[in-house]
Amino acid sequence: MANSKYEYVRNFESDDRLLPSTWLVVRIDGQGFTQFTARHDFAKPNDVRALQLMNRAAVTVVDSMRDLVIAYGQSDEYSFVFAKDTKAFERRASKLATLLVSKFTAAYVFYWSEYFPQTRLQAPPAFDARVVMYPSDRILRDYMCWRQVDCHINNMYNTCFWALVNNGSVSRKDAEKRLKGTLAKDKHEIMFGEFGINYNNEEEIFKKGSVVVRRRELVDVADPSGAIIQRIKVTLETLHCDIVGDAFWDARPEILG
Ligand code: ATP
Ligand code: ATP
Ligand code: MG
Ligand code: MG
Ligand code: MG
Ligand code: MG
Repeated sequence: MANSKYEYVRNFESDDRLLPSTWLVVRIDGQGFTQFTARHDFAKPNDVRALQLMNRAAVTVVDSMRDLVIAYGQSDEYSFVFAKDTKAFERRASKLATLLVSKFTAAYVFYWSEYFPQTRLQAPPAFDARVVMYPSDRILRDYMCWRQVDCHINNMYNTCFWALVNNGSVSRKDAEKRLKGTLAKDKHEIMFGEFGINYNNEEEIFKKGSVVVRRRELVDVADPSGAIIQRIKVTLETLHCDIVGDAFWDARPEILG
C-alpha cells in the first residue's frame, strides 16, 4: 500500500491495549431504557419477551466471540467476560468494547420482531459499553455477585412497587414514599399480606437474571470411513441460577480455567 504524506496522523492514535493476564469484562447497558420500555409497552416490572430478546442477543455475541467464557444479564444490561489470557484484538479496549456492543445492538434489532411480533420498533435502541479489568478470580466472582445481588434487590423493589401501583391503585409517587427505607422483610410482608404475592415463587429469570455459558458434551459421530468416534460438542446454555455461591463454579471449573 502506498504511503501518503498524511500517514503520520496515525501517530495520534493511542495504545489502549489492556493488561495481560487479567479478566476483561465488557458491560453494556441500554441507553434511556426507562423511556424505551415505556414507549414499547413493556410489561412492568418484568417483560419476559424483552429479557428473552436480551438473552438471544447475548447468545449471538458469545457464539461469535470464542474467548468469551461467561455472560450475565439482567434488566437492560449484560456483562461479558473474556478469558483472562485472551489475545482477541490484541486486547485493545476500544476494539473489544465497540465490536461487542455493536454486535449486541445489531442482534437486538435483528431479532426484535421474533419477540415482539405485534410491536414495531419506534426508534433505534442503543447500548453503551465499558471495559473493566479484574486482576483475580475472586474479584471477578465478586463482580458477578455484585450484578446478581443488584438484580435481586432491584427486582424485589420493582415487584413490590408495581404491585402497589397496578394492584393497589396507589400512585407511583405514593408507592415510592411507602417503600422508602423498607427492608426486604417489609417488602415481603407488603407483597404477601396485601397482594398475595409470595416473592419466592416469582420466576427465576426475574429473581436471578440470566447466565450464558458453553456446555461441552461428548457425542458419537461417524468419521468418513463410517467408524463411530467421539467428539466434543459445544452448545450455549442460558440459565437462571445462583452464581453467588460456590456450587455453580465448582460444577464448571473450565470457566475460571
Ligand atoms: P441509562 O441510559 O442511564 O442506562 P435507563 O433509563 O436505561 O438510563 P437503567 O438504570 O439502565 O436506566 O434502567 C433500565 C430501565 O429499563 C429500568 O426502568 C427498568 O425497569 C427498565 N427495564 C429493563 N428491562 C426491562 C424489562 N424486561 N421489562 C420491563 N422494564 C425493563
Ligand atoms: P476488518 O475487519 O479488518 O476491517 P475488512 O474486510 O472489513 O476487515 P477493510 O479494510 O475495512 O477490511 O475493508 C473493507 C472492505 O469492504 C473492502 O474489501 C471494501 O472493498 C469493501 N467495501 C466496503 N464498502 C463497500 C462498498 N460500498 N461497496 C463494495 N465494497 C465495499
Ligand atoms: Mg446506566
Ligand atoms: Mg440503561
Ligand atoms: Mg440498566
Ligand atoms: Mg472493516
